Amino acid sequence: MSKPKVGVFGLTGCGGCQLEILNLEDQLIDFISAVDIVNFTEAISEQSDTYEVALIEGSVSTTHDIERLEHIGKIAKIIIAVGACSGTGGLNCLKNLYGTEKAKELVYGDKKGWIEAIDTKPISEYVKVDYYARGCPPTRSEIVDIVSALIMGKVPEIPSYPVCVECKRLGNTCLYEFGIKCMGPVARAGCNARCPSVKSSCVACRGSIDDPNVNAQKDLLSQYGLTVEDIMEGFNLYNACVKIVQKSK
Ligand code: SF4
Ligand code: SF4
Ligand code: SF4
Repeated sequence: MSKPKVGVFGLTGCGGCQLEILNLEDQLIDFISAVDIVNFTEAISEQSDTYEVALIEGSVSTTHDIERLEHIGKIAKIIIAVGACSGTGGLNCLKNLYGTEKAKELVYGDKKGWIEAIDTKPISEYVKVDYYARGCPPTRSEIVDIVSALIMGKVPEIPSYPVCVECKRLGNTCLYEFGIKCMGPVARAGCNARCPSVKSSCVACRGSIDDPNVNAQKDLLSQYGLTVEDIMEGFNLYNACVKIVQKSK
């Protein structure tokens, strides 16, 4: 049986998600032997237009990103959005809040004309996304699990419950006990409560659970006199585009 051809592509992002794949360590050999990697922006110079699966890092923040993404979308049968930038627009969406022109001026001053930038959007605004490896960056095992499931013809399991579930399972003391705000009650799990486990607040880099108003850990919130709305105020850091996209629909 021929191995599935995989392309790993980077749009506007920091490259950290691609690095996570390169840092798979002992799993990397298994990964490379299970698939045929024909494109990998950060790792190989060869380029091919014959891939079935596309792993895409980065948001759409330039017209060049749109052209590349639409080209990939015509070739790939399965598209996996890798990371927060790709899945929700991620940190790059913060500039949309200022307005792209204003943000360019703030950062580049009178050289802003040199910068080609458009309003940031997640890749799902341009191509159909089949699966999401969420997070900034996603966990290495999740990337491998998604691709492995696809190779075996299975549907990858993506958690739809809040980070609090993982955090409590680990026996962590809740950060609210220390007066630290945390988005765990509404953030999508799958990172094994990576941040609260080291006493750092969850900022929902994996996006929110489906329908936070229904599925949030409301018992925990009410324990601290909070509502879903109270903690959703912190949602913008990684998810500013989500609100903008939802509002515009
Ligand atoms: S999701 Fe995070 S690690 Fe991945 S490209 Fe964006 S900023 Fe970098
Ligand atoms: S709010 Fe944060 S620290 Fe508290 S249980 Fe949930 S994830 Fe853990
Ligand atoms: S704990 Fe929250 S911010 Fe940290 S990796 Fe998980 S979802 Fe992202």
